[in-house]
Amino acid sequence: MAARLYQQCCKLRQSILFCLILLIASAACSIARSQQDPYHYTVQKLGRLNRSDMVFLHKIGKSTQGRPIFAVIITNPENPKNITSNRTRVLVLSGQHGNEPLPVHAVMELIHELSASRRDLAENTVVAFIPTVNPDGLVNNKRYNASGSDLNRDWRTLKQPETALVNHFIREFRPHVLIDLHEWTKDDTYQPNCIETPGFGTRASHRFSRYLGNLVARNTSFSPIPLKHTHYREVSEPGMAHRVHVNKGISSVLIETAPGYPASERIAIYKGSVKSILVAAAAPSTRISKNDLAVVKRSQGNSSAWIGSSFLSIRNFSQDDRQAVCCAIALLAGAILLLLAATPKPLSAKTDEQYSHGKSHPNRLISLVQVAGYDLSIRERLELIQQRPRPSDRSRENSQSNRIAS
Ligand SMILES: [Zn+2]
Repeated sequence: MAARLYQQCCKLRQSILFCLILLIASAACSIARSQQDPYHYTVQKLGRLNRSDMVFLHKIGKSTQGRPIFAVIITNPENPKNITSNRTRVLVLSGQHGNEPLPVHAVMELIHELSASRRDLAENTVVAFIPTVNPDGLVNNKRYNASGSDLNRDWRTLKQPETALVNHFIREFRPHVLIDLHEWTKDDTYQPNCIETPGFGTRASHRFSRYLGNLVARNTSFSPIPLKHTHYREVSEPGMAHRVHVNKGISSVLIETAPGYPASERIAIYKGSVKSILVAAAAPSTRISKNDLAVVKRSQGNSSAWIGSSFLSIRNFSQDDRQAVCCAIALLAGAILLLLAATPKPLSAKTDEQYSHGKSHPNRLISLVQVAGYDLSIRERLELIQQRPRPSDRSRENSQSNRIAS
């Protein structure tokens, strides 16, 4: 009897252990999955989202492989039904390229902040987020969608289901402002952080785009980002979201961050940029001055802008590159100093006698040393100055010698 009971206990223990192992394995899988895959991370977060009176979750359709695409709308609860009210409507896109996870994480953090602690930011605007425009790409960590198409080149033709669905949403939502968030990956040829606003479209759309881009570029709470205001003739890819929509009268801003910055800093750049645009968009009326639009001239001609961009270039190098740059700068500085030291100082054509006429020359001491042709200690220089006869003495000496000669 006791042996039988013991066997049953063993079996029970084994089955409990088996269940525990299964539970731990599935939890580990889900954690690993959520860490690796920004789409499932987003779906999890949206599932836990506090759908308060301000937050509305919409499923706008499915991707090529059947994954849902969501839109989250955040606005003042006073007028929740009418998303196309008189308030400024801002649309934020992220995850168009599946190998760019940081903007997706930034958008999810923003959704959480706007619906919890920063409700004021969404009070006078209607903000819509589409965090995962390309769910299949995000799951597979690929730039393209499941059909191998680059979604951010498809906004003119709308051949892909993802762009067609989001375009349908845009036509209903009718945003005034579109913000498209991207990141340079390590596969890209090196590019710095940048904001791009199109310099075409309707007059109002491109002027306000530039105003917003300038606003973000001037934000000093995070690393400086130069603004690029592109002209149509410079555009080689007209099918990008921000370029297509600015032509439809929607002010559009593209934000890219570069590898080399910590992920937390890059996420802070996206969040800070969107927040500053929301504040500007919420303003009842914006009077845009010439100064607000002078960013192109500034970024081309202003030395501080260049310093900012060169600083960025150095920051984006790897640790080894940075050390190499520092060594090169140190060597260059040493070479310049050596050159300066080796170059013989030209003898001044003027003598101290000439300087003694009129007002005292500020570089008198230097000119004395130059005339002497060799370096002297401070004490010697002072002695030299004191020993030099004053012009009156010298003329007296001259007249005496003249007298003797004559
Ligand atoms: Zn991208």
